[in-house]
Amino acid sequence: MYENDIASVLISEDQIKQRTKELAETIATRYPVGAPEGDLLLIGVLKGAIFFMTDFARALPIPTQMEFMAVSSYGSSTSSSGVVRILKDLDKDIAGRNVLIVEDIIDSGLTLSWLMRNLSSRNPASLEVVTLLRKPEAVKVDVHVADVGFDIPDEFVVGYGLDYDERYRDLPYIGTLDPKVYTG
Ligand code: 5GP
Ligand code: MG
Ligand code: MG
Repeated sequence: MYENDIASVLISEDQIKQRTKELAETIATRYPVGAPEGDLLLIGVLKGAIFFMTDFARALPIPTQMEFMAVSSYGSSTSSSGVVRILKDLDKDIAGRNVLIVEDIIDSGLTLSWLMRNLSSRNPASLEVVTLLRKPEAVKVDVHVADVGFDIPDEFVVGYGLDYDERYRDLPYIGTLDPKVYTG
């Protein structure tokens, strides 16, 4: 459907599925079922993390609850400034809960770093991050990310939730765009 716009498939549907299962099984072992903190609370960051969030939640062999936040970082469309605005906040209090942020991609890490500080101030029992993708820049930022699906090169990617101008989120794999898409 978007074949003419995609330059290459970076991560296939099968690779995403396999890695998501591995991450889910590893992460589940850290959260004992029936803990006083209640079910693990997944916080998905809209919109990019939607598909990873739903596939990851279903791959986790423990009960979870799901909440969503939408944030927008000021800056150009391809780089973020670290100044973040909440477009949609959580509906529920997270105090005393085990919280796991589910992210699509960490690039500069500025958005995540802000989000971690914001959510920490709400006093969760624990706060961790799982991200499907991570770019090389992200390693410079002082945010502890225990679990990463794939380390990818510093290229602009789309698909599986990630957009270019709101398009391509519905691709089932992660791919790179043909430059003609940017240049029109
Ligand atoms: P950071 O604050 O880590 O630089 O930015 C993270 C956000 O930038 C992601 O949640 C995503 O919205 C956007 N982003 C960063 N790299 C890419 C990319 O390669 N493709 C797409 N579609 N979005 C990206
Ligand atoms: Mg994101
Ligand atoms: Mg985007």
